Amino acid sequence: MARGARYRDGPREAGDTRARRSVPSARAQTRVRATVRQQRGMDVSEVDVIGGDEISGGDVPDEDTIFRWIAEVVDKGVRRPGYRADEWVERWAAERFGALGMRDVRLEPVEVRRWEPTEWSLEVTAADGSTTPVDCFPVPFTVPVDGLDVELAAFDPDAPDAVAGRASLYDVTLLRVPGNLMATAGSLPEGTTAASRSLDVESTLAGEHVLPFGIEFQQVLEPSMAAGAAAFVGVLHEYPGDSCQYYVPYDAIERALPGVWVSGSDGARLHDLLAAGPARVRLTVRSEVRAATSHNVVGELPGADDEAVMIASHHDAPWASAVEDGSGIALVLAQATYWAALPPERRPHRLVFVLQGGHMVDGAGLRRYIDDHRDELASAVLEVHLEHAAREFAERTDQAGHQLQPTGLATPRWWFTSRNPDLEAAVLDALTLEQLDRSMLVAPDAFGDQPPTDGALYHTEGVPIVHFLAAPFYLFDAMDTLDKIDRANLVPLTRATIRIVESTRGVSAAAMRAGVVTSQ
Ligand SMILES: [Zn+2]
Repeated sequence: MARGARYRDGPREAGDTRARRSVPSARAQTRVRATVRQQRGMDVSEVDVIGGDEISGGDVPDEDTIFRWIAEVVDKGVRRPGYRADEWVERWAAERFGALGMRDVRLEPVEVRRWEPTEWSLEVTAADGSTTPVDCFPVPFTVPVDGLDVELAAFDPDAPDAVAGRASLYDVTLLRVPGNLMATAGSLPEGTTAASRSLDVESTLAGEHVLPFGIEFQQVLEPSMAAGAAAFVGVLHEYPGDSCQYYVPYDAIERALPGVWVSGSDGARLHDLLAAGPARVRLTVRSEVRAATSHNVVGELPGADDEAVMIASHHDAPWASAVEDGSGIALVLAQATYWAALPPERRPHRLVFVLQGGHMVDGAGLRRYIDDHRDELASAVLEVHLEHAAREFAERTDQAGHQLQPTGLATPRWWFTSRNPDLEAAVLDALTLEQLDRSMLVAPDAFGDQPPTDGALYHTEGVPIVHFLAAPFYLFDAMDTLDKIDRANLVPLTRATIRIVESTRGVSAAAMRAGVVTSQ
C-alpha cells in the first residue's frame, strides 16, 4: 500500500496536484480510536479528534525520498565524532534546514574526544607452539599497546584473580528479553499489562528480542581491570552474525587496559586452546585520541505560539551506520520537510529541529545543548527524539556459516513517553492509526532514571518527552547497513510523529508538565 503522499523537490507549481494518501475520514479515525480505547478499558466518551487531524496541506516525503537521505549519509563513510563523514553530514543537514526556509540555522560547537584506531592485530600461540592470527577489533578508547606478549586466561567471575597479569578472555553475551518487556517496566499503575500499552496485532511481541548489550552494558572492561588483568580479549559469545566489530563502550572514557573484541567462533577456539594447555597472546593496537570540535545542527520554524516542540536525533555513529542514526537524521528531515511546507499558524508551536553530535562520546552533544539552552527548556512543550527505524534480523547457521536474515518483523519499537495521560493517549492513537505494529508506550523510567536514548537528559531536566527508540542487536556493529532499515515504515513513522506533534496544539508547556502523573 502506498502510504505516503508523493513528494518531489522544488517549489510547488500552480495547478500541481500531488497524489496524497487517502487519509481516513475523521469519522473513521474516531471509530478506530474508540475501538482502541475500548480495548484498553478507556472511557470512550473521551474520544476526540486531535487538532483537526487530517495530515494534509503539507508534504509528507515519500519512502524513496526518506530512504535516499539515509543512503546519502551512509555513503559518506564512518561517522564517528570528529571524522570527516560526520562533519560532512553536519554541513549537509544545515544546508537542508536552510533550503527548507528555517530561520536561525546554526552549527553549535560540541567539544569531543576523537578516537581512531589505525592498526591492530592479535596472535595466539598454543601449548604446542603453533601461532595463528585472530581477527579482532580494538575496544574503543582503550590504551594503545605494541606487541604485548602475555599469557591468556579465561575470566571466571567466581575466581577473577586468575586473570591478574594476564590477558583476560572475557565472554560478553547479548541480553535476550521478551520483546514486550518494556511495556510494563518502570512507574506504571498497578495491574498494567503489556496488552494495554502495546500494539501487537500479530501476537509476535512476546518473542525474543536480542539487545545490543550484555548484562555489563558499557562496563565490559571493569571486571578484568578490577582483577588486575594486563589485557582484555572480549568474546562476543553467541553474537548473531559472529562479528567482532562491536563499538562498545562508547562512553569515551580512556581506559588503561588494552583490549580487543573477537568473534564468538574465535572465542570458542581460544577457550578450546586454553582447555588443552597454556596459551599466550600477542596484542598490538595503535590508535590516536585527540580533541575535536563536533556540532549540534539547529534550525527553527515559527509556529502558532512561541513555546517550542523540539524534534531531534543525533548525526554521529559508530560506523557508516544506516539505522544508527542515518534513520534518525532522515526522520528529522522528514518532519522538517512536512512542517516547513505549512504556514506558521498550522504548526502547533514554534518547532526547533536539532541533530546532536557526539552521541558516541557519552552524549556530548546532548549535554552541550542542555548546557547552552537550559533557560529555554521550561518553554519546551515536548521533546521528540527519533532513533532507529530498524528491521529485525536473526541468525541462521548453515554450511555457509552464520547467515543473518530478516525475520519479516520490525525490531520492537519503544516509545518512551512522559506520563501525561493525554500525551500517552495521543501517542497510542498515532501508532494505531499508522499501524505501527510492535510499538509500545514505555515509561521514561523503564530502563533507569532516564530513557537510554540520545535525548535521555531532557527527561531529567523535566522536559516532557516522546522518544522513539528501537534497539536491534546490530546497532553498534559495522553490519548496520542499508538492508537493516525498516524502509516500509519510514512514512508511517513520519506520519505518526506528525500526529504526535500536532496533538500538542493548544497545550502549553506548563499544562503539559502539570498533566504529568508523578507517582504510580
Ligand atoms: Zn541512535
